[in-house]
Amino acid sequence: MVLKLYDTLTREVREVFPMDGQSVRFYGCGPTVYGPAHIGNFRTFVMQDVFRRVLETSGQQTFHVRNLTDVDDKTIRQSQEEGIKLEDFTANWTTRFQNDCELLNLMAPHIEPSAVGHIPEQIALIERLIEKDKAYQAKDGSVYFRVEAFAEYGRLSRLADREITTSAPVRETSDEYDRDSAADFALWKARRPEDGENFWNSPWGEGRPGWHIECSAICMKHLGESFDLHSGGVDLVFPHHENEIAQVEAVTCKTFARHWFHIAHLMVEGQKMSKSLGNLYTLSDLAEKGYHPQEIRYLLLSGNYRQPLNFTFDSLGAARKAISKLTDFASRFGFEYKDNSQLKREFGPFYPVQEALLTDLNTPEALGRLFRLVRELTEAWHRGEFDGETDKIKAVHEGYQACLDAFGLVVDAKAQESIDIPYDIQEMAQKRWQSKCNKNWAEADQLRDELLKLGWIVKDGKEGFELAKSD
Ligand code: AMP
Ligand code: ZN
Repeated sequence: MVLKLYDTLTREVREVFPMDGQSVRFYGCGPTVYGPAHIGNFRTFVMQDVFRRVLETSGQQTFHVRNLTDVDDKTIRQSQEEGIKLEDFTANWTTRFQNDCELLNLMAPHIEPSAVGHIPEQIALIERLIEKDKAYQAKDGSVYFRVEAFAEYGRLSRLADREITTSAPVRETSDEYDRDSAADFALWKARRPEDGENFWNSPWGEGRPGWHIECSAICMKHLGESFDLHSGGVDLVFPHHENEIAQVEAVTCKTFARHWFHIAHLMVEGQKMSKSLGNLYTLSDLAEKGYHPQEIRYLLLSGNYRQPLNFTFDSLGAARKAISKLTDFASRFGFEYKDNSQLKREFGPFYPVQEALLTDLNTPEALGRLFRLVRELTEAWHRGEFDGETDKIKAVHEGYQACLDAFGLVVDAKAQESIDIPYDIQEMAQKRWQSKCNKNWAEADQLRDELLKLGWIVKDGKEGFELAKSD
């Protein structure tokens, strides 16, 4: 049982398999932690999560690395506007991101390294690039990658030379006029007055790493010079991923990632999401309108990842109905959700669902098959075909659990109840759990008291907490 997935580099659907024969080792570019992630970002993170879940439920081990971009123009600018130290500012948004991930039932990556935590690794990689004459320091003190020195440049995005030159400066800053060529991109940015105290020492003077070098250095450290798969939203194909490949392959002369998995964008009511159009939604925006993260997750799975997906409130309403149908099926068959998704599962009667998922992660087809089976099995139930058939019922339970694990949906009576817990209460409770795990007892107690005042009791278990109404 092998997953076949479209590869952006070769433009082919190819089998995903572990180079070391054990674990599929993969990387997903993580969030820039300067504000709340929006549901478009979460389309990408949810699909990466489903990729991992489909492998794991089919018995394939994985090793998942996702970084945190905690230093760049946006994080620096925003932290300064708010007068908060960069590390405190990004720590807050990191916690918020991780809470949102948990609400959406995303599996935590095996490691979540930050850019700031990997400055020496980034400097070391830049040094290797300079040694090999693939990079140079310009008059302004910044260090640039010499695109011309890497013949393979443009292979992933297949952009013509002219497009590379005209698109390159988009995510770069305007002060980079000292580059030898317009296509060259910054590896190290010399300190500027607007950076304030956010700089590090390097062989090229004070400054900070560019955005692209962070992912390359983190991948090399945690996944090696060559690994199985690299992923992100389509906007990252160029220049970010193109640059990541160049930075690594120019020094190693080995294939950086063997497979490239990109997720098409989420649109909102037919338009690109943007702050200025006022159509950019976060999880909490939707929670305020009464939508549960599971419904959002379902909606994000309802489109094929290779096509843009249109978010509408109608489709969110349809997601709500779909979840409630799945819950009805669970109660009819006396199914109890098991919270340990890392196990290999037997899909049994639900095999067609697994098959669709293994075929280029076709989630809409897989959901369609799931609902067809739910209908057919319910009809069989009414015909009495499950009367006294404990083995048959057990196979349905196992197969249903396998589907839920692969989609990352939590469906049982308890999940239905949690729909009634307001988002800010869930968030506060998550924060308290985090404080408890960090042994920050005073903060944990204070949050428990606040929750109690708002009418909610927290009951702790070994691996998590439950919320109950206090009256
Ligand atoms: P950022 O926090 O901007 O670095 O983005 C985090 C991830 O979200 C990246 O993989 C982006 O490619 C992805 N992304 C950004 N906008 C969208 C969108 N509208 N739909 C899907 N993925 C997106
Ligand atoms: Zn990246």
